[in-house]
Amino acid sequence: MKVIVLGAGVIGVTTAYYLARAGAEVLVLDRQREPGLETSYANAGELSYGMTSPWAAPGIPMKAVKWLFMRHRPLFIYPMVSPRMWSWGLQMLANCNEEAYRINKSRMVRVSNYSKQALKDLLADVPLDFDLREQGTLQLFRTQKQLDGSKADQDVLAEFDSPFEVLDKDGCIAVEPGLQHVKEKFVGGLRLTADRTGDCRMFTQGLAKKAEAMGVQFHYNVNIQGVTTGMDRVEKVLTDEGTHEADAFVCCMGPFAPSLLRSIGIDAPIYPIKGYSITLPVTDGDAAPQSTIMDETHKVAITRLGDRIRVAGQAEIAGYSAKLGAHKTDTVRYVVNDLFPKGGDVSKAEGWTGLRPMTPDGTPVIGKTRYANMFLNTGHGTLGWTMACGSSRAVADVVMGKTPEIDMDGLELTRYGT
Ligand SMILES: Cc1cc2nc3c(=O)[nH]c(=O)nc-3n(C[C@H](O)[C@H](O)[C@H](O)COP(=O)(O)OP(=O)(O)OC[C@H]3O[C@@H](n4cnc5c(N)ncnc54)[C@H](O)[C@@H]3O)c2cc1C
Repeated sequence: MKVIVLGAGVIGVTTAYYLARAGAEVLVLDRQREPGLETSYANAGELSYGMTSPWAAPGIPMKAVKWLFMRHRPLFIYPMVSPRMWSWGLQMLANCNEEAYRINKSRMVRVSNYSKQALKDLLADVPLDFDLREQGTLQLFRTQKQLDGSKADQDVLAEFDSPFEVLDKDGCIAVEPGLQHVKEKFVGGLRLTADRTGDCRMFTQGLAKKAEAMGVQFHYNVNIQGVTTGMDRVEKVLTDEGTHEADAFVCCMGPFAPSLLRSIGIDAPIYPIKGYSITLPVTDGDAAPQSTIMDETHKVAITRLGDRIRVAGQAEIAGYSAKLGAHKTDTVRYVVNDLFPKGGDVSKAEGWTGLRPMTPDGTPVIGKTRYANMFLNTGHGTLGWTMACGSSRAVADVVMGKTPEIDMDGLELTRYGT
């Protein structure tokens, strides 16, 4: 069976790997010169199994209003005349209630938990170097109110069997000794002990090499322009290097999936939510983070990746602009200086911006479409690195006609009634 995977981000590459492992002949197409150069390039590096939650949650609309007035704020909205943006925003608001949150969270956790095992299995088959650490993640609270408020999160974590520990100031310093230099800036934390960290780009590029050795073909510098359909099937992919035919197609184009899908009558509610990161060299290993610290006030994650520190965050609703404007990384710079002033050299920081492919309910759209041979693996939003292996293993099973090891109910596009 010949399968074409559209897109070579972390999702496309893991999909190609699982398909090849299942015996498919696989061709991957991407417009970049190598894999993992768009949203998968410099994310926060968190494998957030414990923190897997939709952004749409009860109380978020009120919090969002407060965030808009903070100096180093986590949220920016540029109101645009874009029906798609407003419709996506209204759908997200409609998910900010207790009932929707629980349904969405349980669907996401299903993919995330499966992903944790899938990554373990994958690494047993194909060892990869991507600065993996298995030291949990620490949500850091600057105020007692935040610490007290985390009780609701703790109840949800317990309900979903996600291991955690509540730490006082000394407990936080015991797991993250670098914080001893800024003791006065926080009161405690919530540690998700099963979380891991690693560099998504290194993983993606390393796995692409292994997939290539397994026979997967990668065509880079190729623009996907559309697909042709006949009856209930996709027939060809149209690109600037010509057309490609296959028995099946998997769309893994991240935030750019919706426009291709719209052209064949599929409406996927995925909107780009822009984020920023910097990557800086570690100057003092003991004063640097050991794993991920999530600053709850600014919603910024600081992650140790080998001899580098990645600092990432912010949610900007600004359409498809991939521009890294001046001062856009000021907030992430401020947070790492504030919490790890001696850990790394911010003057050598490399800035980056990426577009999260977000669905309004936080759950990715994976599996079948109305076309018998067209499949989706996209819309992973804030958690594409975390969910990549599980999501792709399940989609590869669906493509190959096998029953996936997780229930696909609520993960497919049909949940939106489309
Ligand atoms: C600031 C930030 C921090 C984040 N932190 C985390 C984190 O800590 N943990 C986590 O789990 N997730 C995190 N994420 C989310 C995660 O990075 C994404 O969910 C994930 O990278 C999405 O992968 P993807 O393969 O779907 O998209 P992409 O990596 O964007 O891949 C899509 C591919 O499709 C190709 N493509 C698109 N259109 C075309 C076309 N027309 N022709 C040819 N090729 C095309 C692109 O070149 C690209 O390579 C973060 C994201 C951001 C922005």
